[in-house]
Amino acid sequence: MPINILSQETINKIAAGEVVERPLNVVKELVENSLDAFASSLTVEIEEAGKRLIRVSDNGLGMDKKDLKLSILRHATSKIDDFSDLLHIHSLGFRGEALASIAAVSSFEIKTRKKSENSGWKLSAIGGKDIKVIPWSGMEGTITEVKSLFFNTPARQKFLKSDFTERSKIINSLEGTALANHDVFFKMLSENKTVFSAAQTDNKIERIADVLGKDFAKTLKNIKIDHPKISLDVYFTGRDDSLPNRKYQYLFVNSRPVNYPKWLTRCVYQSYKESVPRDKHPGILIYTSIDPSKIDVNIHPAKKEVKFADENGIYDILFKALRNALMSHAHPEIKIAYP
Ligand code: ADP
Ligand code: MG
Repeated sequence: MPINILSQETINKIAAGEVVERPLNVVKELVENSLDAFASSLTVEIEEAGKRLIRVSDNGLGMDKKDLKLSILRHATSKIDDFSDLLHIHSLGFRGEALASIAAVSSFEIKTRKKSENSGWKLSAIGGKDIKVIPWSGMEGTITEVKSLFFNTPARQKFLKSDFTERSKIINSLEGTALANHDVFFKMLSENKTVFSAAQTDNKIERIADVLGKDFAKTLKNIKIDHPKISLDVYFTGRDDSLPNRKYQYLFVNSRPVNYPKWLTRCVYQSYKESVPRDKHPGILIYTSIDPSKIDVNIHPAKKEVKFADENGIYDILFKALRNALMSHAHPEIKIAYP
């Protein structure tokens, strides 16, 4: 059989299969782009669980015409230059493939105005083709709009779950992102109705209250650990406030919500041993900040998993602090500083 070189369009469409499995992935990528652009205000609108419309509006840095045109090309990124940069990533995105992949499977539009420029630009594309760029006058920042997701990949469409499920996935993920970025105003609308809205704050507990509810926030205790290996800011329920499910367990690594690695779940449940009844679960939000060279975020395309170089060390630090805090009846706010 003769060998064909695939067109860029086809390559993007195939890649979209990895990056964009469902509307949730689109929302995540667009929101991460807004955060990477230092937005302090972010609005996410969806219709039909994101299948009909996903619109993310931010007040971030925006793009000029040249960057806007580059932004939907595959492996176009302003965030890294070469592989060595991967060792100290501070931005959420870095692969430079999200917009190219999303644009390949939707009717796509970006309206953007760079800070301190008088006017902006609008790029539109359909299935990654017919790319047009025209002048646009709007506020500083960026509005990215994704309509008719998967219109040209019917197999993807069929594989989606019910609107209720797809919407819940989006809401859960956005709640995580909002919890991780309390200094950013967040608003989410579905079918033009507000799902949640969280004011900018310098206080994590206020953000937890806005997103997960005041009643839950009130039950939380806090330990702050400043270890040379890692900083931990942990909000957790005490012995009497355990919950029926694991919904209130979050892990943030350098402001990125990620899944609990198995060893960390073990660490948490070992710390709570005898403190929570069987079939009950602690509520716990672990905010960590760690030297990016001591973790690997590149192990999963959706970046939901992070690998820590020193799992055992971190296990010990958290276990001791959490165990002591749960055993003692001390003041709920406990600060542990290591020299
Ligand atoms: P990555 O985020 O991995 O760099 P993307 O495909 O998500 O790749 O985005 C490509 C580029 O487009 C980004 O590197 C950034 O320069 C630009 N960009 C995308 N979204 C925004 C936004 N909301 N505000 C400013 N720039 C953006
Ligand atoms: Mg990105």
